[in-house]
Amino acid sequence: MAKGMSDNLQAGLTACFLLLIPLVTSQALGAERVKLLRDGKEINLTGRLEIKAADGGLLLLAQDGVLWNIEPAEQVSHTSDAEDFTPYDREQIGTELLAELPEGFEVHSTAHYLICHNTSKAYAQWCGALFERLYLAFNNYWKRNDFNLHEPEFPLVAIVFADQQQYVAHAEKEVGAAAKSIIGYYNLQTNRMTMYDLSGSASLRQPGDRRSNAAQINQLLSRPEAERTVATIIHEATHQIAYNCGFQTRLTDVPMWVNEGLASYFESPDLGRGKGWRTIGAVNHFRLEGFRDYLSRRGSRSLESLLAEGLLADKGRFRDSRQAADAYSEAWALNYYLFQKHAKKYHAYLAGLSKKRPLVQDTADERLLEFKQAFGPDLQEFDQQFLRYMERVE
Ligand SMILES: [Zn+2]
Repeated sequence: MAKGMSDNLQAGLTACFLLLIPLVTSQALGAERVKLLRDGKEINLTGRLEIKAADGGLLLLAQDGVLWNIEPAEQVSHTSDAEDFTPYDREQIGTELLAELPEGFEVHSTAHYLICHNTSKAYAQWCGALFERLYLAFNNYWKRNDFNLHEPEFPLVAIVFADQQQYVAHAEKEVGAAAKSIIGYYNLQTNRMTMYDLSGSASLRQPGDRRSNAAQINQLLSRPEAERTVATIIHEATHQIAYNCGFQTRLTDVPMWVNEGLASYFESPDLGRGKGWRTIGAVNHFRLEGFRDYLSRRGSRSLESLLAEGLLADKGRFRDSRQAADAYSEAWALNYYLFQKHAKKYHAYLAGLSKKRPLVQDTADERLLEFKQAFGPDLQEFDQQFLRYMERVE
């Protein structure tokens, strides 16, 4: 079993990373060519302008789906193209990824995913099948509930390293020291997931023995002790799907309890089946236990503090390592309650959030007001009903 698994069981956390630019006051659309200088290197980009900030800063969506936050001082030239913005196709993105990564990587392609890996083919296939099942279930769920989701504009990219050591060496450049304590993450800026082979199947690799590898992977990852590990991967994949199907927009200031609670709501794996994931909305026992444990020290303003934190904030309960596990558990519980008891209102509230614009920050008061408008003005009464309901969940 991979060594990182136990680390992550303790942490029980996942992370999403992003970069901020100052408040935005204007927006422009169109295919743009931008030349910039960064770290002494000249970079030429073609992309769609998502945001133009008051100070001239740009948020550019490049042809590979990466969001570039370009400071005014970095810009060498900027011209608008007469042609429409065209994203790269799967082949171009695959070629670009292979050029970026160390030697020895290959691409496993599924209907919606490009899995770039240097581990066993069987493990890449296991990931691909898991992601596609989640993708289908996520889309079906929201379509049944009248959400107008679309196909992703870009293939969904996952980078899978053969082992933790290689993963950490790569991930440290993006997430710093956190790389050692998380087993995978979704990066809002690059739009990619990064992870490593949790079954250690690369070391089991025997040429021509694909079938026994697949069986070994299923067996390893179906064990109860693998539950959190698989859940983390599903959690990150849920973020990526939500941000690529029009359900959420990257870098919008959605409340953290929505962002993390939703991913936690979808993350419960179904280990009995050997394929890692089947259903949505099952009780997440890890989070439920966390929530029950938290109740003994939960203050009277806990709900308010949970509702107040936005994705673009730089501090809050989700960002504080001592409080984060409780915040994730409470966010899961709140999502569970809303999905079970107030699904219609919650769907309407989420539809409102999906219309927010990137990098426009809300205040805590605005977030509280939107919540009260959706679920009623009396937060205390809401909290009592929420707690009463959660007592009965098993
Ligand atoms: Zn998350």
